[in-house]
Amino acid sequence: IDVTIKSVGCVGVCNKVPLIDVVDENSVITRYPNVKPEEIKEILHHHFKPGSFFKRVKNKLFNEIDTYHTDQTWDNVIWKPENERTGVINTFLSEQKHIATEGYGYLAPLNLDEYIGFGGFEALKKSLSEYEPNQVVQTILESGLRGRGGGGFPTGKKWELVAASDQTDKYIICNGDEGDPGAFMDRMILESYPFRVIEGMIIAGYATGANKGVFYIRAEYPLAVKRIRTALLLCKERNLLGENINGSSFSFDIEIFEGAGAFVCGEETALIGSIEGERGFPKQRPPYPAVAGLNGKPTLVNNVESLSQISFIINKGQQKYQNIGTQNSKGTKVFALAGKIRNGGLIEVPMGITLNQIIEDIGGGVEGGQKLKAVQIGGPSGGCIPASLCDVKVDFDAFNQMGAMMGSGGLVVLSDNDCMVDMARYFLSFTCEESCGKCTFCRVGIRRMLDILDRLCTGKAVMEDIDKLEELANNVKKSSLCGLGKTAPNPVLTTLKYFRHEYEEHVNGLC
Ligand code: SF4
Repeated sequence: IDVTIKSVGCVGVCNKVPLIDVVDENSVITRYPNVKPEEIKEILHHHFKPGSFFKRVKNKLFNEIDTYHTDQTWDNVIWKPENERTGVINTFLSEQKHIATEGYGYLAPLNLDEYIGFGGFEALKKSLSEYEPNQVVQTILESGLRGRGGGGFPTGKKWELVAASDQTDKYIICNGDEGDPGAFMDRMILESYPFRVIEGMIIAGYATGANKGVFYIRAEYPLAVKRIRTALLLCKERNLLGENINGSSFSFDIEIFEGAGAFVCGEETALIGSIEGERGFPKQRPPYPAVAGLNGKPTLVNNVESLSQISFIINKGQQKYQNIGTQNSKGTKVFALAGKIRNGGLIEVPMGITLNQIIEDIGGGVEGGQKLKAVQIGGPSGGCIPASLCDVKVDFDAFNQMGAMMGSGGLVVLSDNDCMVDMARYFLSFTCEESCGKCTFCRVGIRRMLDILDRLCTGKAVMEDIDKLEELANNVKKSSLCGLGKTAPNPVLTTLKYFRHEYEEHVNGLC
């Protein structure tokens, strides 16, 4: 049979792969999750007769791709076989909102024609032909977009700072140094939507007056590096990168720098030092990178996910973006949903959705009939939120008020079988290993905290150790130089706040 096989980027339904969609001549998609080798023959026989409609199906798929994507509904999907396997995917996907992952399940990561046919690079063309650079900055400012790398600093403000400099050499850095345990949002976006991130970077360059860009991607992400490298070449062939982009007077080029995998290099100043060939040590700020960054020049450092939102904002307008989310947290957030959850995977949700909705409606609830105990949000920099408070909305400020933080987007569901002290020890052992050692509170303080947690987990601690742990945690938080040290105590502080009795039970030998 004359069949076209198309591979697409990540759909996010990690526990349902391998996933095969068959598109028939009426553009009806039949979806087969968890496909087993022995089922392939049956699927082919069911759909395909020799010499049948393959060419027509292929053409129709390309012609109607807009219809698929603009409404982003799955109404035209027939779920077959109609059993539990597919129904799960239906709910998993329908509660999400796709901006960074727009085109999931359809776009082939490196098909530039398809991306363009889908509306790709329209935002760049619009920016270059209809907007002055300061208008682009204004649009991003008004959209309310906040940095998705962890801190939630307004993206437009950073753009404004770099644009304000009258220096001629400026840089845009895409921070793809994702290193939190369990997080893979940036990797998935880079691997599956390389053109979207590149487009966001070029627009950032135009808006701020930068002509050079650097992708900082950790070397442990070889597929992401490979796809970005190929995507950059394809863009250059089409004059979407390089001299006089798309016939305009704006020139911009991008190179790739592979990071060696130090977690601290996700911090802007350490990342810049690493590109300059130095050891990844965070530096005292100010000066901020926006004023004196790479090679001492104004540098905009934006996270992968932040840049992947830009084309949507330019295409649809800041108002439409503003309409999604809460008062101070706009747009969507990508999370790696993991832990004791029935349907884990990679999800993109509108800000303002509650943690309970994510767990129940998208994740299908806690696995194995266990009870929800807490959610650890934001990886080693974040904190835990107990089940009783999981009606909290996904919102930068709401999480901060609870002692947790959005972080880059790890979301680990914990059940009543999980020990919160163990969980805190796990994350702290990670940050202890990843501390660069520059400042004493982080280098020594985290080590001493870990010693106490080790004693607690092996039944050798006394009650005073709990107070000592809390005191140390507060001091490390206050006195460390960079974000790694300042946020490392969060898992300990939040578990102490909400689950202190578990620490006491450890001392009393009750667990
Ligand atoms: Fe290094 Fe930790 Fe100090 Fe950051 S806080 S500079 S990681 S020692």
